[in-house]
Amino acid sequence: MSTTTTIPAPGNLIGGAWQPAISGQTFENRNPADTDDLVAHHAASDDRDLDAAFAAASEAFPAWRRTPGIARGNILYRAAEILASRVEAIARELTREEGKTLKEATGETMRAVAILRYFAGETAQPHGEHYPSASPTTMLYTLREPLGVITIITPWNFPIAIPAWKLVPALAYGNAVVIKPASDAPLCTIRLAECLVDAGLPAGVLNVVTGSASALGDRLVTDERSVAVSFTGSDATGKHIRDLAGAHGKKVQLELGGKNPAIVLADADMDHALTQVINGAMMSTGQKCTATSRAIVDRHIVAEFTERLAQKIGALTVGNGLDGATQVGPLINAKAADSVAEQVEQARGEGTELLVGGRRLDGDHARGHFVAPALFNDVSPSSRLGQDELFGPVLGVIPVDGMDEAISVANNVRYGLSASLFTRDLTRAMRFVQEIQAGIVHVNSETAGAEPQVPFGGYKGSSSYSREQGKAAREFFTQIKTVYLDPSPS
Ligand code: NAP
Ligand code: MG
Repeated sequence: MSTTTTIPAPGNLIGGAWQPAISGQTFENRNPADTDDLVAHHAASDDRDLDAAFAAASEAFPAWRRTPGIARGNILYRAAEILASRVEAIARELTREEGKTLKEATGETMRAVAILRYFAGETAQPHGEHYPSASPTTMLYTLREPLGVITIITPWNFPIAIPAWKLVPALAYGNAVVIKPASDAPLCTIRLAECLVDAGLPAGVLNVVTGSASALGDRLVTDERSVAVSFTGSDATGKHIRDLAGAHGKKVQLELGGKNPAIVLADADMDHALTQVINGAMMSTGQKCTATSRAIVDRHIVAEFTERLAQKIGALTVGNGLDGATQVGPLINAKAADSVAEQVEQARGEGTELLVGGRRLDGDHARGHFVAPALFNDVSPSSRLGQDELFGPVLGVIPVDGMDEAISVANNVRYGLSASLFTRDLTRAMRFVQEIQAGIVHVNSETAGAEPQVPFGGYKGSSSYSREQGKAAREFFTQIKTVYLDPSPS
């Protein structure tokens, strides 16, 4: 079967050339739905490869910076069309590499196309402002200029969309990039880079270095040729990077975890809320920073809502994402699957009632990292299950008495990425929008979802107060130059 042929991955992209790691070493990547399926070998880089990548990026930056934005945008438009023509093939690879269903993988790849198109368009937008000056002969205005070489570090859970939403604006605004994708899913970043290279991106402007973070070491963050670091991933890595990058005087952007609530009030359209809450919790196997992990439900409807949730969650089809019937794929690796199953056991041990799922699946599923989608009843908001991100297909129901308690429970976590409210009451909806501590707020839709034209990011422990995508992206990827231009000094 063609899907089980090992893909000949091209290695690192450094200075415009695809090449093996200097050490000659590789690491393998297996399909999380079927570990007999060896997806690809990738370059196992070390700091010598990184050194070459930073050298190439800093050499390429001056010419790229001087390239008119419109010309940069034209390359991004071409890359968008090239990627669009490859969506089907890349989506299949994404599913093999990461595990999500083919439908989700296709949607994610199309999102990368949309990101390329959006930022191609942004290159033709005004990138400065004109101000009145106190001096009659001075023209006073601002320019947005690129920062220089940017380091981008990405996670595996959106292996093409997250690299795209960081590196595309970085390039659009005239920066050069060194990107290190997650070791669990580097292939999609390589595919995206191939589209950009085929679209005419000059050599060295984008460099891709694969390999484990531990082998690459702190140089990724500390190399003095890079001026900024954009990171998405776990809290622990994020804190390490923030401290290290900060100590080296770099601009840092972090997108971290979430513990996203969906509040369901007694007047909600229950059928709609059920579908949205389940999609939010279980799509991408719950491995989304914006996944719904707490269903905060009004006590008047909680019994019926929970019973119907359990029935529907128990009926989800778990399997290989390439199979059209699959609704929920595997966890990314054995460690993640074990960790989710362990946290489920821990919560049961603490007395929380598990209504469905939560166990590693064997039998037909034994070759993959599968955990049955799980639902907990009556979760204590202050328990570990009520506070910690599991990053898996696990949802907890928290019963509350009305809107005040719902908002207080929703806000009482260290995260603040996304949040949903289900109601027909406009007054309550407006109060929710005002009082919820989250960077992305949904009324009557699931907590996940990120259109490229609007800002993405969280409150509190979910982000570093910067935002990605949309016009907000330029705040991170540019700096402001203020110009006092007086043509006739007297
Ligand atoms: P992770 O372990 O932090 O890894 C993320 C990236 O950082 C990977 O490329 C990883 O490389 C690299 N890395 C690890 N240690 C590093 C270090 N000391 N220095 C520099 N780079 C290092 O996170 P993950 O397990 O891939 O992703 C899951 C987490 O990401 C979840 O907690 C989730 O909430 C969060 N997430 C957040 C968002 C958001 O936008 N807020 C989006 C998606 C995911 P290796 O792969 O080689 O280890
Ligand atoms: Mg990791």
